[in-house]
Amino acid sequence: MRTAISTLELVEPRSLKHALDVLRDSQPIIPLAGCTDVYVSLNAGAPPGARYLNIWNLDALRGIALRGDTVSIGALATFSDIMRSPVVRKRLPALVAAAREIGAVQIQNRGTLGGNVANGSPAGDSLPVLAATDAVVVLRSAGGVRRVPFNGFYTGYRKTVLRPDELIAAIEFPPVTGRQWFRKVGTRAAQAISKIVMAAVRAPHPRIAFGSVAPTVVRVPRTEDLLSAGASLDDAAAMLLTEISPIDDIRSTAEYRRRVACNLLRAFWTETA
Ligand SMILES: Cc1cc2nc3c(=O)[nH]c(=O)nc-3n(C[C@H](O)[C@H](O)[C@H](O)COP(=O)(O)OP(=O)(O)OC[C@H]3O[C@@H](n4cnc5c(N)ncnc54)[C@H](O)[C@@H]3O)c2cc1C
Repeated sequence: MRTAISTLELVEPRSLKHALDVLRDSQPIIPLAGCTDVYVSLNAGAPPGARYLNIWNLDALRGIALRGDTVSIGALATFSDIMRSPVVRKRLPALVAAAREIGAVQIQNRGTLGGNVANGSPAGDSLPVLAATDAVVVLRSAGGVRRVPFNGFYTGYRKTVLRPDELIAAIEFPPVTGRQWFRKVGTRAAQAISKIVMAAVRAPHPRIAFGSVAPTVVRVPRTEDLLSAGASLDDAAAMLLTEISPIDDIRSTAEYRRRVACNLLRAFWTETA
């Protein structure tokens, strides 16, 4: 551990209201959920700040519930909670498939859905599922609640519309009609960050999202339109290449990602036919 923990301050809120008051009155302060991303920065000697707010014990942010036809998943729900939830297993199998491939058991027990969203890595494995299912991010501050469509949540590489005084409280999923599909391509089955990741819904108008092919997770609306209109897979794959902008990095190359993106599109379309 290259960061001296004794130099950091940790605030333990008594309640959600207390946490939101601290976020309003006592900036700068960084929320800590499962800490699986933040700990990596601390370990590397690059702490994102000096003051932290431990939200892990705020059970008000943890539940998974069906409200009407909407599945609401608390921001603190872990990937293990998601895999175990009968509601999520029935309604959002693509999210269960993503949760199963995140890290390994230790990370699944601590890593939260809200942390994956707030962290905003373009390789975050749950994110294409949220994009393809048109999820909604529920944000809470001392001033109230606002709901932001997930597909408008990111404004650039690791940039979001989340304000410093807000917490992600939950992710809401409207009913999903059509077969759900998820595929992660990494170096190995566990503890590997995605080289490329895709989630999709096979509805009359398909909904398709990719991670690790652009600065943020992306939907590919023109590819969706072509498939919906009955175009060939070759034409859809050609269109897909105009909608993604992968780069070379330590995990993969742009060329590999372009090829695999097209292969995943074909696999989705044929497997869900
Ligand atoms: C060994 C290892 C393997 C991993 N494998 C994967 C993988 O395969 N796929 C993958 O997608 N990720 C992976 N991760 C990354 C990480 O586990 C996930 O991103 C996880 O979802 C983060 O959740 P957390 O609760 O631990 O976030 P934290 O580390 O607590 O927080 C991350 C960021 O989000 C903010 N934050 C957290 N919760 C909230 C909230 N409710 N409101 C506002 N801001 C919030 C924090 O301030 C911080 O900036 C891995 C990490 C490790 C260490």
